Amino acid sequence: MRISKAMAMQMALALVCLNASAPGFAQQAGYTAGQGASPWMDKTLSPDRRANLLLKEMTLDEKISMIHGAGWEHNIWADEHATQAAMEMTPGAAGYLQGVKRLGIPAIQMADAAVGVTKGAATGRFSTPLPSGLAEASAWSRALSHESGALIGRELLSAGFNMSLGGGCNLLREPRNGRNFEYKGEDPILAGTLVGEQIRGVQEQGVIGDIKHYALNDQETARTTLNAVMDRRAMRETDLLAFEIGIRIGHPGAVMCSYNKVNGVYACENPYLLNDVLKKDFGFEGFVVSDWKATHSIGAALQGLDVEMPDDSHFGQKLKDAVLHGELPAARLDDMVRRVLRSEIAAGVFDRVPTQSVTDVTYGLKFAQHAAEQGTVLLKNDRGVLPLHVGGIRSIVLIGGHADAGVLSGGGSAQVDPPGGNAIAETGRRAIVYYRSSPLTALRRQLQGIAVSYVDGEDPGQAAAAAKHADIAIVFAVQPAREDTDLADLSLPGKQDALIDAVADANAKTIVVLETGGPVKMPWLQKVASVLEIWYPGIRGGEALANILLGQVNPSGKLPVTFPMDEQQLPRPVLTSRAEHAPVVEYSEGLKIGYKWYDATGKRPLFPFGFGLSYTQFSYSRLDVGADPFTLHFTVRNTGSFAGTEISEVYASLPPEAAEPPKRLVGWARTQLGPGESKQVEVKLDPFSFMIFDATLDRWVTVGGTYHVQVGGSSVDTPLVATIILKAR
Ligand code: BGC
Repeated sequence: MRISKAMAMQMALALVCLNASAPGFAQQAGYTAGQGASPWMDKTLSPDRRANLLLKEMTLDEKISMIHGAGWEHNIWADEHATQAAMEMTPGAAGYLQGVKRLGIPAIQMADAAVGVTKGAATGRFSTPLPSGLAEASAWSRALSHESGALIGRELLSAGFNMSLGGGCNLLREPRNGRNFEYKGEDPILAGTLVGEQIRGVQEQGVIGDIKHYALNDQETARTTLNAVMDRRAMRETDLLAFEIGIRIGHPGAVMCSYNKVNGVYACENPYLLNDVLKKDFGFEGFVVSDWKATHSIGAALQGLDVEMPDDSHFGQKLKDAVLHGELPAARLDDMVRRVLRSEIAAGVFDRVPTQSVTDVTYGLKFAQHAAEQGTVLLKNDRGVLPLHVGGIRSIVLIGGHADAGVLSGGGSAQVDPPGGNAIAETGRRAIVYYRSSPLTALRRQLQGIAVSYVDGEDPGQAAAAAKHADIAIVFAVQPAREDTDLADLSLPGKQDALIDAVADANAKTIVVLETGGPVKMPWLQKVASVLEIWYPGIRGGEALANILLGQVNPSGKLPVTFPMDEQQLPRPVLTSRAEHAPVVEYSEGLKIGYKWYDATGKRPLFPFGFGLSYTQFSYSRLDVGADPFTLHFTVRNTGSFAGTEISEVYASLPPEAAEPPKRLVGWARTQLGPGESKQVEVKLDPFSFMIFDATLDRWVTVGGTYHVQVGGSSVDTPLVATIILKAR
């Protein structure tokens, strides 16, 4: 990974902050343990050692106070022992875990932070609304994900939070899932790697990171009652693999277990998921925190849950009684508390000086724009309509999607409050929120001398008339999505399909800009010239789009998710509904998630996984597998006239005995190339990516035999093929 100068400086700064010999949170906030009485404040000791030293000093009540939240929406204001200094730091959190004043144990202030720090409106704070998780994943960039985590970490800190509730990596099994925008697509290796990098970025700032929602919380419909059924091998190689990789890379302090049941048992009291897989196999050392109200019993403590959020319905007095009556071993309670302490210490929460600071708004805006540019996917570009050839254009009409006002964002707990308020006239808790980054304004700013107008698209006839008289028509198609609700289907809501149809009939140079949470159907695809998927592009989405449309930036994003032709192509054409008495979703496609389903069933999707065009073209040659079968070299050439970045994808087909889907992603690389330039690209593959999970042996194995390695620009375009032989292991 290449580290930019700015990133290196930020990392160095983070280290300086962590190593500072100034008094830590505890002392600053008045939580001092007394002279010489706090050996656990010795930073030279390991987090485990320090946690154990603390545990020895704690009373039963103090221990209990650390394993449950202090109430829904409660925060430090509710802590009567909080010092003035600590209260002045308070941000108004999504969750609050009390500290222990006497021992200098800091409270944990949690904020949802999937795509930026939330709940700014309550306190009037700015935090950067970043592009959605799917937009970020479309860049296939470890560095970008890492830096987005670092930015979130810094903004959490400056607002007074010390724990992030981000790190969503549920795999996209259900394209109608209302939370897909928070996650990172359908491939476990891609999603796991990127979420791991993001968590690493967060925690390097001295903030506890988390990964969620563990596990199989792949639809929102009936999320609190749904039983998600999947066999163990499929789980381990798909949804759980994303977590395994994310945890290995990011070492999050917390894992959030999900609302649903997995194979009949609630995820937050599922001993297989929590004890066997997470804590034993993955070696997870932090704490398991329940999703908000996803704790169902005191017994969950024995099955691996460590912290109940957001209140103490089970892990308060009831759990204390269970310990006193010998129903819950004291050693297990100690383990729960040790895990919380360990994560606080490991992330630097104990030792960091809590200084209020002003968020670097300028940097946030710049980074958000960069991320939106990197995450844009060009899906169609007939006759080179894009980038716009401004020389020959006199007029452009923008149609629909509130393109005069701003860009769409995703709703629910991940919603970052809009700086300056909602760009459209909607209010209320469930309002659809647009950020004030108007594509119309951004384009006008760059296009002096060209008439750029806007019509709202409410009347397709009027829009078509406007399109007829313009040189270029750009339709903004939006698909709002939010937590706790799934999309009814994959159609653009309302009359948008009819609108695009009418506009495309009137103007051959119709460009469609999609602002969607995930895949949508495009019945009008053949009729339009170009399609750009900008997802929910964040606070600088309008500016990023203008740069892409005008060729200041060459789009390079690739889809982290398959776009199906329609619902009939899905493993489950109909969503499991809330109306059912005991809703069950059988993930019988198992290993065949996303592109693996389309490969295995021979179905041709609308757009395949890994697909994305550029304003230039790339050619591939000379694949070379050396003595080390896990290091590949190949040549990529930019054969067009634009500088651009190519994301090269490496897939592997396993030997038939492995009984796997036709191929899986095993690696990728991003290469920047000037016009005509070619480079040799090296990709180092992780041997783990070639393994399968043997459910009988209950471990990962390498199947001996011939593996076909394929390299190219998308999952259906892999011109380079080589074979490698691996020994059984
Ligand atoms: C969501 C979590 C979130 C929590 C706290 C829950 O409803 O599922 O993702 O972290 O609320 O806001």
